[in-house]
Amino acid sequence: MIDREKLTALRDAPVAPAAHVIDGARCQASGGGTMDVVSPLDGSVLTTMPRGTADDAAAAISAARKAFDDGRWSGLSPAARKAVLLKWADLVDAHALELAVLGVRNNGTEISMAFKAEPVSAAATIRYFAEAADKLYGEIAPAAPGTLGLVHREPAGVVGAIVPWNFPLMIGAWKLGPALAAGCTVVLKPAETASLTLLRIAELALDAGLPRGVLNVVTGEGATVGAAIAESMDVDVLVFTGSGPTGRRLLEASARSNFKRVYLELGGKSPNIVFADAPDLDEAAKVSAHGIFRNSGQVCVAGSRLLVERTIHDAFVAKLKSVAEAMVVGDPLDPATSAGAINSERQLAQNLRFVAEARAKGRTIVTGGHRVREDSGGFYMAPTIVAGVSPEDALAQEEVFGPVLAVIPFDTEEEAVAIANGTQFGLAAAVWTANLSRAHRMIRAVKAGVVHVNTYGGADITVPLGGVKQSGNGHDKSLHAFDKFFDLKTAWIKL
Ligand code: NAD
Repeated sequence: MIDREKLTALRDAPVAPAAHVIDGARCQASGGGTMDVVSPLDGSVLTTMPRGTADDAAAAISAARKAFDDGRWSGLSPAARKAVLLKWADLVDAHALELAVLGVRNNGTEISMAFKAEPVSAAATIRYFAEAADKLYGEIAPAAPGTLGLVHREPAGVVGAIVPWNFPLMIGAWKLGPALAAGCTVVLKPAETASLTLLRIAELALDAGLPRGVLNVVTGEGATVGAAIAESMDVDVLVFTGSGPTGRRLLEASARSNFKRVYLELGGKSPNIVFADAPDLDEAAKVSAHGIFRNSGQVCVAGSRLLVERTIHDAFVAKLKSVAEAMVVGDPLDPATSAGAINSERQLAQNLRFVAEARAKGRTIVTGGHRVREDSGGFYMAPTIVAGVSPEDALAQEEVFGPVLAVIPFDTEEEAVAIANGTQFGLAAAVWTANLSRAHRMIRAVKAGVVHVNTYGGADITVPLGGVKQSGNGHDKSLHAFDKFFDLKTAWIKL
């Protein structure tokens, strides 16, 4: 529950200039100066943060290397690591509202969603992986008589984590939780437009007793700090959530340097497929609208392509239009707001460009399509539905990462599958049908990391999230997330 009085007190509080967290201490940039942190709520300068340099990244990597190699963290018993991480999760929970408000002022997500999805979910994620730390076993191989094959899991070493701006704490915790629980040390690079809360939770980690150098956070530009992490000979594993072009650069950097393992969680153009036999079309319209418009569409798994069976197309689009138009695009710090700000002016311009292109092609703007609340000085956009989209259109092929829904009609199940699978992406999907056999056929036929049935979103920490095709590789969440952070070592013994 959000305490409104506290929220009012926090919303305009001055924000101190941010600092990197390197080797257990707050530290200012070594020579890169600072960069302004612009609030998308009103376009004002919230504070400054270091414009990190390659030297800052190197200092953080060297601290993480030393902390890993001397065993101050990897050498602890898993139960001891668990105790520290649980304490950290409690501290994140205890500061949940402060973190949520700071995060909203930094990235624009509506507070009703940010509170649960950011600090509360990050604390739960850290707790989930902490609890698992002392419940993972090695293996004894079913080897030939006279031999013993043991499979050890060893922490992989120094992890570089590069994360985006849409859910910095949630996505950050998906990487930090399993990496730290496994015994790795980390250098984290937050996004330029969403660094403040990750810096804050790194300080809380130190308060919880995480040894210095185990978690380091370096702010700044991707092309400088992110690239230095990716090129480093001393980073063993690189985990990333962000765009495809950056993912490609990270793989290239790995190939140029030390072949570090690179795990990518990339974008999507996720199909939300509504059949005429959906159990409840009103519910489907409500959930589908939230599946694209929450956090103003800045969600990797957003259901950004709506595939609707032609017989219900017009009626369903009308329902969706009324849900979209009832959504309140407003002050992200008002708990009644259902869609907050667009993260940056650049992202807003990109969203509007996609709409302009669709309009120029003669597609129907059912609702929205424009900037709103311009006098606030912030970056806001009306929930937008574009109908009559062709599967080949840019709007049906490329990720907008904004509140823009492309509607495409279909006639048969086969056609729905072909359209659903007809992009480079494969992150998420949904199917709305009361036909059990069809639901299972679609789960198998649609190429995606997660297929929802008669719902959209909300898959919790117990299940993996990862893309297929050009949506990435590897998985966050669930016990499978640990695989990225362990090396398997075989001991082969002659008895
Ligand atoms: P982005 O790729 O531009 O940036 C992501 C991170 O990479 C940032 O921290 C950035 O500073 C860093 N970066 C940028 N250039 C870099 C470089 N050359 N070397 C190293 N690091 C670099 O993406 P974004 O705009 O921050 O995020 C939006 C994208 O992220 C969307 O495409 C979205 O779909 C994707 N995303 C995916 C998921 C998922 O789970 N699959 C979740 C959220 C967002």
